[in-house]
Amino acid sequence: MLLQQDTLALIGNTPMVRLKGPSEATGCDIFAKCEFANPGASVKDRAALFIVNDAEEKGLLKPGGIIVEGTAGNTGIGLALVANAKGYRTVIVMPETQSREKMDTLRALGAELVTVPAAPYSNPGHFVHTSRRIAEETEGAIWANQFDNIANRKAHIVGTAEEIWAQMDGRIDGFTCSAGTGGTIAGVGMGLKAKDENITIALTDPHGAALYAYYAHGELKSEGESVAEGIGQGRITANLEGAPIDTQFRISDAEGLEWVRRLLSEEGLCLGLSSGINVAGAVALARQVGPGKRIVTILCDTGFRYLSTLYNREWLKSKGLTVFPWLAQNG
Ligand code: PMP
Repeated sequence: MLLQQDTLALIGNTPMVRLKGPSEATGCDIFAKCEFANPGASVKDRAALFIVNDAEEKGLLKPGGIIVEGTAGNTGIGLALVANAKGYRTVIVMPETQSREKMDTLRALGAELVTVPAAPYSNPGHFVHTSRRIAEETEGAIWANQFDNIANRKAHIVGTAEEIWAQMDGRIDGFTCSAGTGGTIAGVGMGLKAKDENITIALTDPHGAALYAYYAHGELKSEGESVAEGIGQGRITANLEGAPIDTQFRISDAEGLEWVRRLLSEEGLCLGLSSGINVAGAVALARQVGPGKRIVTILCDTGFRYLSTLYNREWLKSKGLTVFPWLAQNG
């Protein structure tokens, strides 16, 4: 077993696992990178560490400084942990619509939490703009700016993509995941294409996001809606600029949730909805490239972050989603 000399070294180097159900369903080998195994239990620890290191290297973040960020929650959790390890404070701005567990976690980690009503990006009250204003008005603060700060995707070029290449022994036919900031899909896509340009990079987009239409026919246009947290982008962020996307899939919440259910009840993995949507995308990609191929996707965060939503009977019913059979029976 690996011995690490400091806690920040625990970020990254996550395990890769072959998923039995999705592989059997397609005749491909579908592998998933277990990003829930990071200390903050999500893929965003990587971006948080790279953004903080980059701000230090540029001389923007001084000892005892404050890191401000707008986030669906997971980046805030990563930043709070990294900040604690390095002696900074965090102010985290989140839309009220995100899960209670993520808000409670941020408070528990010592972050100052600011919640704002959900609003379109064009509204000055949007969580991203609110966080930028707070950073500008706070002495000694930096704005992490995960959407347009490409230190985010660099974490995936030099980290996630290199790890995937090594874990797969360089034998990989396709990669797919969804996009929030786009750091993961762009960074892993760029990193893998630099190794082998024949690897197919596919965007998996939830309903309510505009990227599927953009990559399919050049128009940012959304259709439908999704309750998935942390994914669903309406614009080309700086992280997405130049992302080498070869093909794209649009996945419904119902399809994603069905994989969340199966991965839990058949393979013992408790995941969030973006992970289920990614697995549905990997299945779609496997069907497109044909049997016998090796496909990789991302398991973005832990389901324990969504006990009050995805794993709650009343919440599922209120959203018109299928209640897992064991929840329907319990209590
Ligand atoms: N899934 C979840 C649960 C997330 O919080 C995020 C980050 N917003 C993503 C997926 C997408 O990651 P990225 O920002 O790298 O596109």
